[in-house]
Amino acid sequence: MYGVLALQGAFAAHRRRLAELGISSREVRTPADLAAVEALVMPGGESTTMSNLLGSSGLFDPLAERLAAGMPTFGTCAGMILLADKVLDGRADQRSFGVLDVTVRRNGWGRQLDSFETELDVTGFDGPFHGVFIRAPRVEAVGPDVDVLAFHGDDPVLVAQGALLAAAFHPELTPDPRLHERFVELVGSAAPETEEV
Ligand code: GLN
Repeated sequence: MYGVLALQGAFAAHRRRLAELGISSREVRTPADLAAVEALVMPGGESTTMSNLLGSSGLFDPLAERLAAGMPTFGTCAGMILLADKVLDGRADQRSFGVLDVTVRRNGWGRQLDSFETELDVTGFDGPFHGVFIRAPRVEAVGPDVDVLAFHGDDPVLVAQGALLAAAFHPELTPDPRLHERFVELVGSAAPETEEV
């Protein structure tokens, strides 16, 4: 079963996109919800609010464990921020899971480019993918194990590392299913999660 983190933000659109691919999903708001899923989408929204809600819902620690164990996860926009190893311009008490070896700057495109849409060349896709960026994080550094699957100019905007896929933009807000399909392929090929020791 797929889960979509549903504390806040654009989770409903992700569930619709997965449903269009024939994938049923459940909303994840509690540790019990999380225990029932094998893969997770972390949507866009507001990463500071999500960080708070992850704490108050009791989800932060169990989710950190699942991510460390290799649960396939697709983070978009705020979801990318939550996965990131290092968050710049975050709120002082904001937490991230630190499993994706990237440095992101929140709202890193400056005022004029605050929100924009652009066509992206994605590795492995035949035609461009329409990228909707909404106060998006800007990836300022990527580690050696990170594959960059799309750039906007010189900036990585779609990255993969092991069982993680992360987009700075909002693929659930366009009708194009290809990135969700890519995630479903990743879930299918992911190694089983490692047991806690
Ligand atoms: N700027 C938001 C944040 O920091 C992310 C925006 C989004 O997810 N569309 O969390």
